[in-house]
Amino acid sequence: MTTSTATATGIPAVRPYESYVYAYPHKTAYRPLPERPALRELWAAERKDALSLYLHIPFCEVRCGFCNLFTRIGAPEELTTRYLDALDRQAVAVRDALGDDEPVRFAAAAFGGGTPTFLTAGELERLCDIAEKRMGADLRAVPLSVETSPSTATADRLAVLADRGTTRISIGVQSFVDAEAKAAVRPQRRAEVEGALGRIRDARIPVLNIDLIYGIDGQTERTWLTSLEAALAWRPEELYLYPLYVRPLTGLHRLGAGVTVPEAEALEQAAWDEQRLRLYAVGRDHLLAHGYEQVSMRMFRRADAPRESADGPEDYACQTDGMIGLGCGARSYTSALHYSFDYAVDMREIRSIIDSFTSTQDFSRAEVGRYVDASEARRRHLLQSVLQAAGLPVADYRARFDTDPWADFPAELAEFAARGWLDEGAPEGLLRLSPLGLAHSDALGPALFSPGVRAAMAAYERK
Ligand code: SF4
Repeated sequence: MTTSTATATGIPAVRPYESYVYAYPHKTAYRPLPERPALRELWAAERKDALSLYLHIPFCEVRCGFCNLFTRIGAPEELTTRYLDALDRQAVAVRDALGDDEPVRFAAAAFGGGTPTFLTAGELERLCDIAEKRMGADLRAVPLSVETSPSTATADRLAVLADRGTTRISIGVQSFVDAEAKAAVRPQRRAEVEGALGRIRDARIPVLNIDLIYGIDGQTERTWLTSLEAALAWRPEELYLYPLYVRPLTGLHRLGAGVTVPEAEALEQAAWDEQRLRLYAVGRDHLLAHGYEQVSMRMFRRADAPRESADGPEDYACQTDGMIGLGCGARSYTSALHYSFDYAVDMREIRSIIDSFTSTQDFSRAEVGRYVDASEARRRHLLQSVLQAAGLPVADYRARFDTDPWADFPAELAEFAARGWLDEGAPEGLLRLSPLGLAHSDALGPALFSPGVRAAMAAYERK
Protein backbone atom coordinates (compact mmCIF):
# COMPACT_ATOMS: atom_id res chain seq x y z
CA MET A 1 0.00 0.00 0.00
CA THR A 2 1.45 3.43 -0.88
CA THR A 3 1.50 5.51 2.27
CA SER A 4 1.99 9.21 2.76
CA THR A 5 1.65 11.29 5.92
CA ALA A 6 0.16 9.94 9.16
CA THR A 7 -3.48 10.52 10.01
CA ALA A 8 -4.79 11.87 13.32
CA THR A 9 -5.14 8.28 14.56
CA GLY A 10 -1.45 7.59 13.91
CA ILE A 11 -2.09 5.19 11.03
CA PRO A 12 -0.18 6.20 7.91
CA ALA A 13 -2.49 7.79 5.35
CA VAL A 14 -2.87 5.89 2.09
CA ARG A 15 -3.47 7.00 -1.44
CA PRO A 16 -7.02 6.02 -2.38
CA TYR A 17 -6.23 5.25 -6.02
CA GLU A 18 -3.55 2.56 -6.14
CA SER A 19 -5.04 0.28 -8.77
CA TYR A 20 -8.28 -1.27 -9.95
CA VAL A 21 -8.36 -4.95 -8.96
CA TYR A 22 -10.58 -6.55 -11.58
CA ALA A 23 -8.65 -9.79 -11.63
CA TYR A 24 -6.16 -11.36 -9.26
CA PRO A 25 -3.35 -11.97 -9.96
CA HIS A 26 -2.93 -9.17 -12.50
CA LYS A 27 -1.51 -10.07 -15.91
CA THR A 28 1.72 -8.22 -15.09
CA ALA A 29 2.38 -11.05 -12.59
CA TYR A 30 2.16 -13.65 -15.39
CA ARG A 31 5.36 -15.05 -16.87
CA PRO A 32 6.24 -17.30 -19.82
CA LEU A 33 5.59 -20.92 -18.88
CA PRO A 34 8.73 -22.77 -20.03
CA GLU A 35 7.02 -26.16 -19.83
CA ARG A 36 4.14 -24.92 -22.05
CA PRO A 37 1.58 -27.19 -20.37
CA ALA A 38 -0.91 -28.93 -22.65
CA LEU A 39 -4.44 -27.56 -22.26
CA ARG A 40 -5.79 -31.10 -22.28
CA GLU A 41 -3.86 -31.87 -19.08
CA LEU A 42 -4.66 -28.52 -17.46
CA TRP A 43 -8.38 -29.05 -17.91
CA ALA A 44 -8.52 -32.82 -17.29
CA ALA A 45 -9.52 -32.66 -13.63
CA GLU A 46 -11.53 -29.43 -13.77
CA ARG A 47 -15.29 -29.10 -13.49
CA LYS A 48 -16.63 -28.07 -16.86
CA ASP A 49 -20.37 -27.88 -16.36
CA ALA A 50 -20.62 -24.12 -15.67
CA LEU A 51 -17.77 -22.47 -17.55
CA SER A 52 -17.57 -18.82 -18.57
CA LEU A 53 -16.59 -18.01 -22.15
CA TYR A 54 -14.84 -14.78 -23.06
CA LEU A 55 -13.93 -13.74 -26.62
CA HIS A 56 -11.52 -10.85 -26.98
CA ILE A 57 -11.54 -8.49 -29.98
CA PRO A 58 -8.43 -6.27 -29.81
CA PHE A 59 -9.46 -3.52 -32.23
CA CYS A 60 -10.71 0.03 -31.69
CA GLU A 61 -11.35 2.99 -33.97
CA VAL A 62 -9.32 5.29 -31.72
CA ARG A 63 -7.07 4.81 -28.71
CA CYS A 64 -8.56 6.64 -25.73
CA GLY A 65 -5.99 8.57 -23.70
CA PHE A 66 -6.68 6.68 -20.46
CA CYS A 67 -6.82 3.19 -21.98
CA ASN A 68 -4.27 0.53 -21.09
CA LEU A 69 -6.30 -2.38 -22.44
CA PHE A 70 -4.88 -4.77 -24.99
CA THR A 71 -6.16 -3.20 -28.21
CA ARG A 72 -4.88 -1.57 -31.39
CA ILE A 73 -6.22 1.19 -33.62
CA GLY A 74 -7.76 -0.09 -36.83
CA ALA A 75 -7.24 -3.36 -38.66
CA PRO A 76 -5.50 -2.98 -42.03
CA GLU A 77 -5.34 -5.55 -44.80
CA GLU A 78 -8.07 -7.95 -43.75
CA LEU A 79 -6.59 -8.24 -40.28
CA THR A 80 -10.02 -8.87 -38.73
CA THR A 81 -10.49 -11.83 -41.09
CA ARG A 82 -7.13 -13.27 -40.16
CA TYR A 83 -7.89 -12.65 -36.50
CA LEU A 84 -11.23 -14.47 -36.71
CA ASP A 85 -9.51 -17.31 -38.60
CA ALA A 86 -7.04 -17.64 -35.71
CA LEU A 87 -9.85 -17.41 -33.15
CA ASP A 88 -11.59 -20.23 -34.97
CA ARG A 89 -8.43 -22.39 -34.89
CA GLN A 90 -7.98 -21.61 -31.21
CA ALA A 91 -11.60 -22.50 -30.43
CA VAL A 92 -11.24 -25.87 -32.15
CA ALA A 93 -8.06 -26.62 -30.18
CA VAL A 94 -9.51 -25.51 -26.85
CA ARG A 95 -12.78 -27.39 -27.28
CA ASP A 96 -10.78 -30.47 -28.19
CA ALA A 97 -8.69 -30.04 -25.03
CA LEU A 98 -11.82 -29.88 -22.87
CA GLY A 99 -12.67 -33.40 -24.04
CA ASP A 100 -16.01 -35.17 -23.93
CA ASP A 101 -15.61 -37.43 -20.92
CA GLU A 102 -17.82 -35.15 -18.86
CA PRO A 103 -20.46 -32.65 -19.97
CA VAL A 104 -19.00 -29.32 -21.11
CA ARG A 105 -21.43 -26.47 -20.56
CA PHE A 106 -21.09 -22.71 -20.65
CA ALA A 107 -23.12 -20.74 -18.11
CA ALA A 108 -22.19 -17.25 -19.31
CA ALA A 109 -20.50 -15.59 -22.28
CA ALA A 110 -18.99 -12.19 -23.01
CA PHE A 111 -17.41 -10.42 -25.98
CA GLY A 112 -14.95 -7.78 -24.84
CA GLY A 113 -12.01 -5.84 -26.12
CA GLY A 114 -11.06 -3.51 -27.46
CA THR A 115 -14.37 -2.94 -29.16
CA PRO A 116 -16.14 -6.11 -30.34
CA THR A 117 -18.45 -3.97 -32.49
CA PHE A 118 -15.41 -2.81 -34.44
CA LEU A 119 -16.26 -6.01 -36.35
CA THR A 120 -18.86 -5.69 -39.10
CA ALA A 121 -22.31 -7.24 -38.70
CA GLY A 122 -21.18 -10.21 -40.82
CA GLU A 123 -18.05 -10.65 -38.72
CA LEU A 124 -20.12 -10.54 -35.53
CA GLU A 125 -22.23 -13.39 -36.95
CA ARG A 126 -19.02 -15.31 -37.42
CA LEU A 127 -17.90 -14.50 -33.88
CA CYS A 128 -21.19 -15.89 -32.54
CA ASP A 129 -20.77 -18.97 -34.73
CA ILE A 130 -17.32 -19.58 -33.22
CA ALA A 131 -18.81 -19.40 -29.72
CA GLU A 132 -21.72 -21.66 -30.63
CA LYS A 133 -20.52 -24.11 -33.25
CA ARG A 134 -16.89 -24.50 -32.19
CA MET A 135 -17.21 -24.11 -28.41
CA GLY A 136 -20.76 -25.39 -27.97
CA ALA A 137 -22.02 -22.36 -26.04
CA ASP A 138 -25.78 -21.86 -26.33
CA LEU A 139 -25.72 -18.07 -26.59
CA ARG A 140 -29.49 -17.64 -26.56
CA ALA A 141 -29.79 -19.62 -23.33
CA VAL A 142 -27.12 -17.90 -21.21
CA PRO A 143 -26.30 -14.32 -20.23
CA LEU A 144 -24.28 -12.76 -23.08
CA SER A 145 -22.57 -9.42 -22.46
CA VAL A 146 -21.03 -7.36 -25.29
CA GLU A 147 -19.01 -4.14 -25.17
CA THR A 148 -19.55 -1.39 -27.71
CA SER A 149 -18.63 2.23 -28.43
CA PRO A 150 -20.69 5.20 -29.67
CA SER A 151 -19.38 5.16 -33.23
CA THR A 152 -19.63 1.39 -33.73
CA ALA A 153 -23.05 0.78 -32.13
CA THR A 154 -24.78 0.71 -35.52
CA ALA A 155 -28.27 -0.66 -36.10
CA ASP A 156 -27.08 -3.60 -38.24
CA ARG A 157 -24.51 -4.77 -35.67
CA LEU A 158 -26.96 -4.37 -32.78
CA ALA A 159 -29.57 -6.35 -34.71
CA VAL A 160 -27.14 -9.26 -35.07
CA LEU A 161 -26.22 -9.12 -31.40
CA ALA A 162 -29.86 -8.95 -30.27
CA ASP A 163 -30.80 -11.80 -32.59
CA ARG A 164 -27.95 -13.98 -31.32
CA GLY A 165 -29.04 -13.60 -27.71
CA THR A 166 -27.16 -10.63 -26.25
CA THR A 167 -28.65 -9.86 -22.83
CA ARG A 168 -26.37 -6.99 -21.87
CA ILE A 169 -24.67 -4.26 -23.87
CA SER A 170 -22.06 -2.06 -22.27
CA ILE A 171 -21.10 1.24 -23.85
CA GLY A 172 -18.11 3.35 -22.89
CA VAL A 173 -19.36 6.94 -22.92
CA GLN A 174 -16.99 8.32 -20.24
CA SER A 175 -18.44 11.86 -20.45
CA PHE A 176 -21.43 13.55 -22.08
CA VAL A 177 -19.49 16.83 -22.03
CA ASP A 178 -17.62 17.15 -25.32
CA ALA A 179 -14.74 19.15 -23.81
CA GLU A 180 -14.18 16.44 -21.16
CA ALA A 181 -14.24 13.69 -23.76
CA LYS A 182 -11.58 15.64 -25.64
CA ALA A 183 -9.52 16.12 -22.45
CA ALA A 184 -9.59 12.34 -21.94
CA VAL A 185 -8.41 11.92 -25.55
CA ARG A 186 -11.65 10.32 -26.59
CA PRO A 187 -12.88 12.54 -29.39
CA GLN A 188 -16.65 12.22 -29.66
CA ARG A 189 -19.70 14.44 -29.84
CA ARG A 190 -22.61 14.16 -27.45
CA ALA A 191 -25.02 13.90 -30.40
CA GLU A 192 -23.17 10.80 -31.58
CA VAL A 193 -23.41 9.27 -28.09
CA GLU A 194 -27.12 10.01 -27.79
CA GLY A 195 -27.70 8.49 -31.24
CA ALA A 196 -25.91 5.28 -30.21
CA LEU A 197 -27.93 5.03 -26.99
CA GLY A 198 -31.15 5.45 -28.97
CA ARG A 199 -30.14 2.62 -31.33
CA ILE A 200 -29.23 0.38 -28.38
CA ARG A 201 -32.63 0.97 -26.76
CA ASP A 202 -34.31 0.31 -30.13
CA ALA A 203 -32.51 -3.05 -30.29
CA ARG A 204 -34.29 -4.06 -27.07
CA ILE A 205 -31.31 -5.73 -25.46
CA PRO A 206 -32.46 -6.22 -21.84
CA VAL A 207 -29.57 -4.65 -19.94
CA LEU A 208 -27.82 -1.42 -20.91
CA ASN A 209 -24.67 -0.47 -19.03
CA ILE A 210 -23.10 2.97 -19.41
CA ASP A 211 -19.48 3.61 -18.35
CA LEU A 212 -18.62 7.08 -17.09
CA ILE A 213 -15.29 8.47 -15.82
CA TYR A 214 -14.63 11.01 -13.08
CA GLY A 215 -11.43 12.89 -12.35
CA ILE A 216 -10.97 14.32 -15.86
CA ASP A 217 -9.03 17.55 -16.14
CA GLY A 218 -11.49 20.45 -15.84
CA GLN A 219 -14.37 18.28 -14.61
CA THR A 220 -16.42 19.85 -11.82
CA GLU A 221 -19.30 18.62 -9.69
CA ARG A 222 -21.64 20.47 -12.03
CA THR A 223 -20.29 18.91 -15.23
CA TRP A 224 -20.14 15.49 -13.54
CA LEU A 225 -23.82 15.82 -12.65
CA THR A 226 -24.50 16.82 -16.27
CA SER A 227 -23.05 13.49 -17.40
CA LEU A 228 -24.88 11.52 -14.71
CA GLU A 229 -28.20 13.16 -15.60
CA ALA A 230 -27.65 12.56 -19.30
CA ALA A 231 -26.96 8.90 -18.60
CA LEU A 232 -29.96 8.56 -16.27
CA ALA A 233 -32.24 9.92 -18.98
CA TRP A 234 -31.78 6.52 -20.68
CA ARG A 235 -32.69 4.66 -17.48
CA PRO A 236 -29.72 2.30 -17.87
CA GLU A 237 -30.05 -0.90 -15.91
CA GLU A 238 -26.40 -0.52 -14.88
CA LEU A 239 -23.87 2.27 -14.56
CA TYR A 240 -20.15 1.92 -13.97
CA LEU A 241 -18.43 4.99 -12.53
CA TYR A 242 -14.66 4.74 -13.05
CA PRO A 243 -12.04 6.97 -11.46
CA LEU A 244 -9.60 8.20 -14.09
CA TYR A 245 -6.12 6.73 -13.91
CA VAL A 246 -3.12 7.90 -15.90
CA ARG A 247 -1.07 4.76 -16.38
CA PRO A 248 2.36 4.33 -17.96
CA LEU A 249 2.49 4.16 -21.76
CA THR A 250 -1.08 5.44 -22.21
CA GLY A 251 -1.86 8.48 -24.35
CA LEU A 252 -2.58 10.72 -21.35
CA HIS A 253 0.71 9.66 -19.76
CA ARG A 254 2.60 10.55 -22.91
CA LEU A 255 0.85 13.92 -22.97
CA GLY A 256 2.36 14.57 -19.53
CA ALA A 257 -0.90 14.48 -17.60
CA GLY A 258 1.18 13.02 -14.78
CA VAL A 259 3.37 15.77 -13.28
CA THR A 260 7.05 14.96 -12.96
CA VAL A 261 8.53 17.46 -10.45
CA PRO A 262 8.37 15.50 -7.14
CA GLU A 263 6.97 18.25 -4.85
CA ALA A 264 4.55 19.51 -7.48
CA GLU A 265 3.61 15.93 -8.19
CA ALA A 266 2.73 15.25 -4.55
CA LEU A 267 0.57 18.36 -4.39
CA GLU A 268 -1.11 17.61 -7.70
CA GLN A 269 -1.72 14.01 -6.70
CA ALA A 270 -3.32 15.04 -3.41
CA ALA A 271 -5.59 17.51 -5.18
CA TRP A 272 -6.48 14.95 -7.82
CA ASP A 273 -7.19 12.28 -5.19
CA GLU A 274 -9.42 14.75 -3.39
CA GLN A 275 -11.25 15.62 -6.64
CA ARG A 276 -11.85 11.95 -7.42
CA LEU A 277 -13.04 11.11 -3.88
CA ARG A 278 -15.42 14.07 -3.98
CA LEU A 279 -16.81 13.23 -7.42
CA TYR A 280 -17.16 9.57 -6.41
CA ALA A 281 -19.29 10.61 -3.41
CA VAL A 282 -21.37 12.94 -5.59
CA GLY A 283 -21.94 10.19 -8.15
CA ARG A 284 -22.73 7.53 -5.55
CA ASP A 285 -25.19 9.76 -3.68
CA HIS A 286 -26.87 10.84 -6.90
CA LEU A 287 -27.42 7.29 -8.09
CA LEU A 288 -28.59 6.07 -4.68
CA ALA A 289 -31.11 8.91 -4.68
CA HIS A 290 -32.34 7.90 -8.14
CA GLY A 291 -33.27 4.29 -7.46
CA TYR A 292 -29.91 2.59 -7.97
CA GLU A 293 -28.17 0.22 -5.59
CA GLN A 294 -24.43 0.03 -5.19
CA VAL A 295 -22.90 -3.31 -6.16
CA SER A 296 -19.24 -2.35 -5.81
CA MET A 297 -17.21 0.84 -5.78
CA ARG A 298 -17.70 1.14 -9.54
CA MET A 299 -20.92 -0.68 -10.26
CA PHE A 300 -24.48 0.56 -9.68
CA ARG A 301 -27.64 -1.28 -10.70
CA ARG A 302 -31.17 0.05 -11.10
CA ALA A 303 -33.07 -1.53 -8.23
CA ASP A 304 -35.85 -2.77 -10.53
CA ALA A 305 -33.53 -4.03 -13.29
CA PRO A 306 -33.67 -7.66 -14.41
CA ARG A 307 -31.02 -9.90 -12.85
CA GLU A 308 -28.89 -11.95 -15.20
CA SER A 309 -28.75 -14.83 -12.81
CA ALA A 310 -29.72 -15.30 -9.20
CA ASP A 311 -26.38 -16.79 -8.26
CA GLY A 312 -24.04 -15.55 -11.01
CA PRO A 313 -21.12 -13.18 -10.50
CA GLU A 314 -22.18 -9.68 -9.51
CA ASP A 315 -20.17 -7.90 -12.12
CA TYR A 316 -18.67 -8.83 -15.42
CA ALA A 317 -14.99 -8.84 -14.64
CA CYS A 318 -13.36 -12.15 -15.51
CA GLN A 319 -13.22 -13.42 -11.96
CA THR A 320 -14.69 -16.86 -11.67
CA ASP A 321 -12.84 -20.17 -11.79
CA GLY A 322 -13.51 -22.08 -14.96
CA MET A 323 -13.00 -19.33 -17.51
CA ILE A 324 -12.18 -20.00 -21.15
CA GLY A 325 -10.75 -16.92 -22.82
CA LEU A 326 -10.24 -16.91 -26.58
CA GLY A 327 -8.24 -14.26 -28.42
CA CYS A 328 -4.82 -12.83 -27.79
CA GLY A 329 -5.80 -10.50 -24.92
CA ALA A 330 -8.01 -12.99 -23.08
CA ARG A 331 -7.22 -14.78 -19.85
CA SER A 332 -8.25 -18.34 -19.04
CA TYR A 333 -8.55 -19.73 -15.54
CA THR A 334 -8.36 -23.25 -14.23
CA SER A 335 -8.35 -23.70 -10.47
CA ALA A 336 -4.55 -24.02 -10.54
CA LEU A 337 -3.35 -21.84 -13.43
CA HIS A 338 -4.30 -18.48 -14.89
CA TYR A 339 -2.93 -18.15 -18.41
CA SER A 340 -3.00 -15.94 -21.44
CA PHE A 341 -0.80 -14.71 -24.26
CA ASP A 342 1.83 -12.03 -23.94
CA TYR A 343 0.65 -8.65 -22.66
CA ALA A 344 1.55 -5.09 -23.66
CA VAL A 345 0.20 -1.54 -23.59
CA ASP A 346 2.52 0.08 -26.14
CA MET A 347 0.94 0.13 -29.61
CA ARG A 348 3.92 -1.34 -31.47
CA GLU A 349 4.17 -4.25 -29.04
CA ILE A 350 0.44 -4.90 -29.23
CA ARG A 351 0.56 -5.00 -33.02
CA SER A 352 3.36 -7.53 -32.96
CA ILE A 353 1.55 -9.77 -30.42
CA ILE A 354 -1.61 -9.69 -32.56
CA ASP A 355 0.43 -10.56 -35.66
CA SER A 356 1.98 -13.47 -33.83
CA PHE A 357 -1.48 -14.63 -32.67
CA THR A 358 -2.91 -14.54 -36.19
CA SER A 359 -0.05 -16.68 -37.51
CA THR A 360 -0.27 -19.26 -34.69
CA GLN A 361 -1.33 -22.71 -35.83
CA ASP A 362 -0.91 -24.68 -32.59
CA PHE A 363 -3.16 -23.43 -29.77
CA SER A 364 -2.98 -26.59 -27.71
CA ARG A 365 -0.68 -25.25 -24.97
CA ALA A 366 -0.62 -22.46 -22.38
CA GLU A 367 2.21 -20.01 -23.07
CA VAL A 368 2.14 -17.32 -20.36
CA GLY A 369 0.55 -17.48 -16.93
CA ARG A 370 0.77 -17.84 -13.18
CA TYR A 371 0.01 -20.78 -10.94
CA VAL A 372 -2.48 -20.07 -8.17
CA ASP A 373 -1.75 -22.09 -5.04
CA ALA A 374 -4.08 -22.64 -2.08
CA SER A 375 -2.97 -19.49 -0.30
CA GLU A 376 -3.44 -17.35 -3.43
CA ALA A 377 -6.88 -18.91 -3.92
CA ARG A 378 -7.86 -17.65 -0.43
CA ARG A 379 -6.60 -14.15 -1.22
CA ARG A 380 -8.50 -14.20 -4.46
CA HIS A 381 -11.71 -15.30 -2.80
CA LEU A 382 -11.37 -12.61 -0.11
CA LEU A 383 -10.56 -9.91 -2.68
CA GLN A 384 -13.40 -10.79 -5.02
CA SER A 385 -15.98 -10.97 -2.27
CA VAL A 386 -15.02 -8.19 0.06
CA LEU A 387 -14.87 -5.63 -2.76
CA GLN A 388 -18.57 -6.27 -3.44
CA ALA A 389 -20.91 -4.01 -1.47
CA ALA A 390 -22.83 -7.08 -0.28
CA GLY A 391 -19.70 -8.32 1.49
CA LEU A 392 -18.25 -11.76 2.15
CA PRO A 393 -20.35 -14.39 3.91
CA VAL A 394 -17.79 -15.95 6.25
CA ALA A 395 -19.63 -19.28 6.07
CA ASP A 396 -18.88 -19.49 2.30
CA TYR A 397 -15.20 -18.90 2.95
CA ARG A 398 -15.19 -21.49 5.71
CA ALA A 399 -17.02 -24.03 3.56
CA ARG A 400 -14.45 -23.64 0.79
CA PHE A 401 -11.23 -23.41 2.80
CA ASP A 402 -12.11 -24.84 6.22
CA THR A 403 -10.69 -21.76 7.88
CA ASP A 404 -11.63 -18.18 8.61
CA PRO A 405 -10.56 -14.93 6.85
CA TRP A 406 -9.61 -13.44 10.23
CA ALA A 407 -7.29 -16.41 10.84
CA ASP A 408 -5.75 -16.17 7.35
CA PHE A 409 -5.39 -12.38 7.08
CA PRO A 410 -5.25 -11.04 10.66
CA ALA A 411 -2.89 -8.12 10.03
CA GLU A 412 -4.64 -6.91 6.87
CA LEU A 413 -8.13 -7.08 8.36
CA ALA A 414 -7.02 -5.44 11.61
CA GLU A 415 -5.56 -2.58 9.59
CA PHE A 416 -8.73 -2.22 7.53
CA ALA A 417 -10.77 -2.15 10.75
CA ALA A 418 -8.48 0.50 12.26
CA ARG A 419 -8.93 2.65 9.16
CA GLY A 420 -12.69 2.44 9.51
CA TRP A 421 -12.98 0.47 6.25
CA LEU A 422 -15.00 -2.41 7.75
CA ASP A 423 -18.69 -2.10 8.56
CA GLU A 424 -18.95 -2.71 12.29
CA GLY A 425 -22.73 -2.88 12.02
CA ALA A 426 -22.70 -5.75 9.49
CA PRO A 427 -24.77 -8.78 10.49
CA GLU A 428 -22.99 -11.59 12.31
CA GLY A 429 -21.03 -13.74 9.86
CA LEU A 430 -20.73 -11.06 7.15
CA LEU A 431 -17.44 -9.33 6.41
CA ARG A 432 -18.53 -6.12 4.71
CA LEU A 433 -16.92 -2.81 3.85
CA SER A 434 -18.13 0.47 5.29
CA PRO A 435 -18.93 3.31 2.85
CA LEU A 436 -15.41 4.63 3.56
CA GLY A 437 -13.96 1.20 2.82
CA LEU A 438 -15.85 0.95 -0.47
CA ALA A 439 -14.60 4.41 -1.46
CA HIS A 440 -11.06 3.11 -0.81
CA SER A 441 -11.49 -0.15 -2.75
CA ASP A 442 -8.55 0.74 -5.00
CA ALA A 443 -6.24 0.95 -1.96
CA LEU A 444 -7.76 -1.96 -0.06
CA GLY A 445 -7.62 -4.43 -2.96
CA PRO A 446 -3.90 -4.00 -3.70
CA ALA A 447 -3.17 -4.23 0.06
CA LEU A 448 -4.31 -7.86 -0.15
CA PHE A 449 -1.83 -8.82 -2.89
CA SER A 450 0.64 -11.49 -1.75
CA PRO A 451 4.34 -10.58 -1.52
CA GLY A 452 5.02 -12.94 -4.44
CA VAL A 453 2.48 -11.31 -6.73
CA ARG A 454 3.59 -7.87 -5.65
CA ALA A 455 7.22 -8.69 -6.47
CA ALA A 456 6.30 -10.16 -9.86
CA MET A 457 4.25 -7.08 -10.73
CA ALA A 458 7.09 -4.77 -9.64
CA ALA A 459 9.61 -6.73 -11.73
CA TYR A 460 7.40 -6.69 -14.83
CA GLU A 461 8.95 -4.73 -17.64
CA ARG A 462 6.29 -2.55 -19.18
CA LYS A 463 6.10 -2.64 -22.92
S1 SF4 B 1 -11.29 2.62 -23.69
FE1 SF4 B 1 -12.42 1.13 -24.93
S2 SF4 B 1 -12.81 2.22 -26.89
FE2 SF4 B 1 -11.18 3.36 -25.83
S3 SF4 B 1 -9.27 2.47 -26.65
FE3 SF4 B 1 -9.75 1.36 -24.75
S4 SF4 B 1 -10.87 -0.44 -25.41
FE4 SF4 B 1 -10.91 1.02 -27.13
